[in-house]
Amino acid sequence: MTGLKPCGECDTCKFHPEIAELCNGGEIFGLLPGPKHYLNGWFGEYMKVNKGGVVFNVSDMDRDLRILIEPAAVIVHAVEQAKQIFNFKFNSYVLVQGCGPIGLLLLTMVRCLGVRNIIACDGDDKRLKFAKQLGAKYTVNGMKPGAIEKVKAITGGEGAEMVFQCTGSPKAASVAWKYVRRGGSFCELGFFTNNGDTTYSPHLDMCNKQIKACGSWTYQAKDWVQAFDFLKEAKERKLPVTKLITHKYPLDKMNEAMEMNISMKGLKIAYVAK
Ligand SMILES: [Zn+2]
Repeated sequence: MTGLKPCGECDTCKFHPEIAELCNGGEIFGLLPGPKHYLNGWFGEYMKVNKGGVVFNVSDMDRDLRILIEPAAVIVHAVEQAKQIFNFKFNSYVLVQGCGPIGLLLLTMVRCLGVRNIIACDGDDKRLKFAKQLGAKYTVNGMKPGAIEKVKAITGGEGAEMVFQCTGSPKAASVAWKYVRRGGSFCELGFFTNNGDTTYSPHLDMCNKQIKACGSWTYQAKDWVQAFDFLKEAKERKLPVTKLITHKYPLDKMNEAMEMNISMKGLKIAYVAK
């Protein structure tokens, strides 16, 4: 079932259904508290499906692939936003900043779309190694000095044509603008919570480079249909996408699972029914 259900009654829902994910009165199952969302948590044994929720039959996908559907829908939505400002080609230089589950799934999708020159950027060399298995051609450790120069060297001195910012770090988000070439594009999808403000140079980073920028927020039901096919495509290409699920816990080990998630030692931490 899709995580997000727009209210269907507000101005956005009625007159701008193409951006229904921006409805202020909508519900996100398992994320928002309150009586309206009673029994909606993903961790519950039962879940109340509200009227208007969209349910898909995904029994043709194995369990590990199904675990990745929700984040994959986030990625589909972001790539659809990016397509409005960037024309993906086989030889495009696409940089993905942040190799957590979102960044890694994103670069896998960009690879499945046919792009060959993917640059993964992260501060963790283990994650960068995994990024290569999923389709990144180049890796840059963004925590080490000279990262901007390294990106320039990879891209013939120009910088990346398209940059996806997938970290939740304001500091990293500030640096991401420096990786974009003149005339390039930028998509921000890393901040699902407000982690604070950041800075950029309006002259150097945006105006002078004539950058096209977009943000991406959650998804719509239609994005989930593409998410299914993307995950199947990744599996057919033998891209080890299910290796993103580094830990599995039964429901009664919820505290351990939460601690593992907070420790950031794993990637995707999953609850699996016995
Ligand atoms: Zn609405």
